[in-house]
Amino acid sequence: MDALDGNAIGGMLHEVFGTEMTAARGTCATCGAAGPLAETMVYLRAPGTVARCRVCTSVVMVFVKVRGMNCVDLRGLAALTAAEHG
Ligand SMILES: [Zn+2]
Repeated sequence: MDALDGNAIGGMLHEVFGTEMTAARGTCATCGAAGPLAETMVYLRAPGTVARCRVCTSVVMVFVKVRGMNCVDLRGLAALTAAEHG
């Protein structure tokens, strides 16, 4: 399956975090690579959406919609830093 990039989940991230997150920096818990969420590899597959580290392909985020609510699993992230404005 072709991977999308993190911009594909920009709308969902906004729903979950209430703010624009594609520019936020995530740190992979497996390999320590850090980069904007927009640069993760995203796989849209039922019943959830998976974002993988571009360096080591470990799962960094999992989104599952349950009864209309977005549930997010960030266990694959060692850190998540909001983008600085200005
Ligand atoms: Zn990694």
